[in-house]
Amino acid sequence: MARVTVLGAGIAGLSAARHAADAGYETALFEKRIRSGGLLDHFTVKGFRFDTGVHFGFSKNDAYQKVIDQTERYTHRPEAYNYEGGRWIKHPVQNNLYPLPVKEKVEAIKSFLERPPLQEGADYRQWLQGQFGRVIAERFPGRYTRKYWTVAPEMLSTDWVGNRLYRPSLEEVLFGAMTDETPQTYYLRELYYPKRGGFRAFLEPLEQNLDLRVGKEAVRIDSGRKTVYFRDGSCEHYELLVSSVPLPELINMLEGVPAAVKEAAESLWATEMTIVSVGLKREDAGPHLWFYIYDEDILPARVHAPYLKSPDNVPDGCSSLQFEVYSSRRKPLAIEKEKLCGHVAGVLEKMGLASRKDILFTDCRSVDYANVVFDRGMVARRDLALEHVRERGILPVGRFGEWDYLWTDQCYLSGARVLDALAVL
Ligand SMILES: Cc1cc2nc3c(=O)[nH]c(=O)nc-3n(C[C@H](O)[C@H](O)[C@H](O)COP(=O)(O)OP(=O)(O)OC[C@H]3O[C@@H](n4cnc5c(N)ncnc54)[C@H](O)[C@@H]3O)c2cc1C
Repeated sequence: MARVTVLGAGIAGLSAARHAADAGYETALFEKRIRSGGLLDHFTVKGFRFDTGVHFGFSKNDAYQKVIDQTERYTHRPEAYNYEGGRWIKHPVQNNLYPLPVKEKVEAIKSFLERPPLQEGADYRQWLQGQFGRVIAERFPGRYTRKYWTVAPEMLSTDWVGNRLYRPSLEEVLFGAMTDETPQTYYLRELYYPKRGGFRAFLEPLEQNLDLRVGKEAVRIDSGRKTVYFRDGSCEHYELLVSSVPLPELINMLEGVPAAVKEAAESLWATEMTIVSVGLKREDAGPHLWFYIYDEDILPARVHAPYLKSPDNVPDGCSSLQFEVYSSRRKPLAIEKEKLCGHVAGVLEKMGLASRKDILFTDCRSVDYANVVFDRGMVARRDLALEHVRERGILPVGRFGEWDYLWTDQCYLSGARVLDALAVL
């Protein structure tokens, strides 16, 4: 039997270890933090539970659905909103222009009719204009891109878009400009969330009886000797190594990497997320499960309401919100972290969600890897690095291991590919 060593106990690593262990392989899972979960972990402040960013469960595959089905859960409708210049607009904006002044609606519709034809190899800005017309493209997704992806849309390719942005017909745009009684067109129909225990409760069935070793940060890999070395001085021999460690970091752990591969890996970058979590001593903080903010003077790009995901996330009589602010090597945070809580308190008031006197606490913390950025040409550079890793007999999995814009269900499937690798070992 092969000894399977898995690095990183986020959902991808947990899935890989679960599948390998269930298939009868001796398996150990090494996590650098003090517990499993990765991006799906939560933290608690004064009895309020906060996930790491918005996080809902959804699935297009039966295997992951079966994992979710093991946990008692709520089903939410994906009714998101947008905030721009003091207005609340149903999501997605392009087919919900109703709240805009008539003159602005006319300009948006005119430009929708005049949208330029889509060219092969278009960058994201050209793609947005081709889908929605210049006015909608620049005012909404264009501005959001600078906040969420931290660069202008012309810097990005469209490799990540998939079905994430709804492409309405003319009829839908016109309808949405005339009434707010529009149908739900979000790309997901239902969102799941555990009744108790935060999002990470979905992971519990995966973790049962695994050989999980925490506080173990891999720092060097000798792929010739099939040995991984940890920061605490220990090492582990493996027959198959599965890694959900961010790809550029994994490349750095290997010796003898060709210069072109090193250069490709160094060019990969991700956004960092700073989350400001707010506990409120009032029962409600607006009706929105989550919403997007376009205004440049408001630093958060996205906000969600943990208390609406599940009442188990807050003490009785309280509510909570969490604000996501993105930065990167291309766009550092616009203010010092210490000032971000004050900024968010002001934003809460400005948006009419709560007043400063309702705030019990604000908590600010950062996540180093949030979203991998698809700057133009990234896919070719990433594939070069991935190919090298695979040639070394290492299986990269997960959002940062595969360096892709994967959701949790896709990370679960990514980890399950350990069985294919074991089959040819
Ligand atoms: C703000 C935000 C909101 C999201 N919302 C949703 C959503 O609503 N629904 C959805 O399906 N997906 C969502 N996602 C995506 C989802 O979070 C990820 O796809 C998924 O959690 C990634 O899992 P992973 O195991 O690949 O990576 P991670 O969760 O990052 O796990 C990697 C693990 O490896 C560990 N590690 C790193 N380096 C080492 C090392 N050297 N040695 C040992 N261990 C190491 C890390 O500590 C971590 O635990 C969201 C993502 C973000 C950022």
